[in-house]
Amino acid sequence: MPAKKRCQFTGEERCNSAALRIVGSCPHCRSDFCGSHRLPEYHNCTNLQDCRQQAFDRNKAKLESERTVASKMATA
Ligand SMILES: [Zn+2]
Ligand SMILES: [Zn+2]
Repeated sequence: MPAKKRCQFTGEERCNSAALRIVGSCPHCRSDFCGSHRLPEYHNCTNLQDCRQQAFDRNKAKLESERTVASKMATA
């Protein structure tokens, strides 16, 4: 049996909770966290900026494509 992983949250206080298996692993920074720190927002994820930017770009592209459709419908 592998040793239980600890939450790798590093803030003002270290977290002593056990890291969650699978779902506790952050895909952005590849560290393991407990249930309360697993979201990028809660562990100061080093790659949070990147993932925010990606979400922003995706959203922008979506809005632009919707606008294109809407303007086509308006001129039709
Ligand atoms: Zn934690
Ligand atoms: Zn992370």
